[in-house]
Amino acid sequence: MPNENFIGGKWVPAKSGRTDPVLNPATGEVLAEVPSSGAADVEEAVAAAAAAFDEWADTTPRHRFEVLTKIADAIEADLPTLQDLEVRNVGKPLSIIEFEMDLTVDNWRFFGAGARFLEGRSAGEYMEGHTSFLRRDPLGVVASIAPWNYPLNMATWKLGPALAAGNTVVLKPSELTPLSALRLAEITADILPPGVLNVVCGQGESAGASLVTHPKVAMVSLTGDVATGKAIARAAADSLKRVHLELGGKAPVIVFDDADIAAVVATLTEAGYYNSGQDCTAPCRVLAGPKVFDSFVSDLTSAVSGIATGDPLDPDTAMGPVVSADQLARVTGMVDRARSAGAEVTTGGSARDGNGFFYEPSVVVGPAQDSEIVQREVFGPVISVQQFTDEAQALAWANDVDYGLASSVWTQDVGRAMRMAKGLQFGTVWVNDHIPIVSELPHGGFKQSGYGKDMSIYAIEAYTELKHVMVKL
Ligand code: NAD
Repeated sequence: MPNENFIGGKWVPAKSGRTDPVLNPATGEVLAEVPSSGAADVEEAVAAAAAAFDEWADTTPRHRFEVLTKIADAIEADLPTLQDLEVRNVGKPLSIIEFEMDLTVDNWRFFGAGARFLEGRSAGEYMEGHTSFLRRDPLGVVASIAPWNYPLNMATWKLGPALAAGNTVVLKPSELTPLSALRLAEITADILPPGVLNVVCGQGESAGASLVTHPKVAMVSLTGDVATGKAIARAAADSLKRVHLELGGKAPVIVFDDADIAAVVATLTEAGYYNSGQDCTAPCRVLAGPKVFDSFVSDLTSAVSGIATGDPLDPDTAMGPVVSADQLARVTGMVDRARSAGAEVTTGGSARDGNGFFYEPSVVVGPAQDSEIVQREVFGPVISVQQFTDEAQALAWANDVDYGLASSVWTQDVGRAMRMAKGLQFGTVWVNDHIPIVSELPHGGFKQSGYGKDMSIYAIEAYTELKHVMVKL
């Protein structure tokens, strides 16, 4: 696979000749050098996408379904290589990689099928002597800006609906993890016409910012940090581009006194530390009832201290490193500050010596509601646990953060589960579970977790413009 930009069906270096190193976070070694692109590279990629738009937009839904299904098949056939790239570039353990790859393949199949189900709600005579109908038209060139935590899967959530709806795309993968996106470009080169999918590597402030301000880009779709989302929304405001934002999360896990504690502990031990906790929906903020608090903390601490951490290539490893030295410093700083502020770290609580960016799976007990570790996204292998007094306080604390992406409620009481599902200001509420997602159902945030949905038919609709056509009879 050439480590170059993929523009208009060709592999090209950055015009400046500059490159950025891509690291293996488990060892700190350089895996590859990729283009450090700038405005001139973005210009070329947007021009290629714009040139390919009319023809792609004119294809039938059936054709796009067939093409996206071929992409799903090509990914499936290439899984050993793609998995290896994600394991080495993100530090994901081999033991967990299958789930997100399976979801990725299914996502492509779903988006392909979804191309055939776009619809306007109705057609008819709403004014005497006139017939109206609705069309869903593609927007044009979409800039897709992806994060590093699930590089191929997050790219899929952006590319799939954009292409299904008839748009062409310039994808900018994260500067930390561009390799699987380049491999995707390579394996789809014979499937998609030149220019329909372009991949430009580079930093956010240069390649990313140039995409956001480019006049020929009709829509920017970002999955990333809240601060990045705000910067992009501000920059896009000048040209009033459509903006689609999937941002951070701080998912509460509300454990009532009647919950099945063994089930909560088992789910948290897996989902809270999956991908080293670098997941926007990670169950990272437990609110536990007064009667179960002590036994819950004890059981969670003991289970988390047994999580096998280490070499991602070892099949027995459950948790690998965090993605970078910066991310390690962020996690270390947040746990240290929580401890200094009076919280108790019952297991973990430090970085591992040696090569790579490893942090111990950790549990932080008793932080204050207004403390940093409760209010801000750690994005690392850390769960905080607070004790609430009653249902009203549990709901108030759960909602008392800027984020609103995902949440869960654990109780045997159906009425209470329903009250909480109504009151929680989060895009997903799980009852007696936390983390499962499927292609058919939307994923997206309330509040500062962003706007716009990923997956589901709502995602495909987000990449279209609704047009009213009125015909005088
Ligand atoms: P990030 O915001 O640092 O980077 C995301 C992407 O934005 C990268 O490609 C980066 O180069 C680019 N970027 C940065 N500044 C930019 C700018 N000014 N203009 C244009 N592009 C710019 O996020 P990250 O650290 O890669 O990912 C982690 C974050 O993503 C976390 O906050 C996490 O919660 C969030 N996330 C959200 C979801 C979701 O579905 N809501 C899913 C995964 C990750």
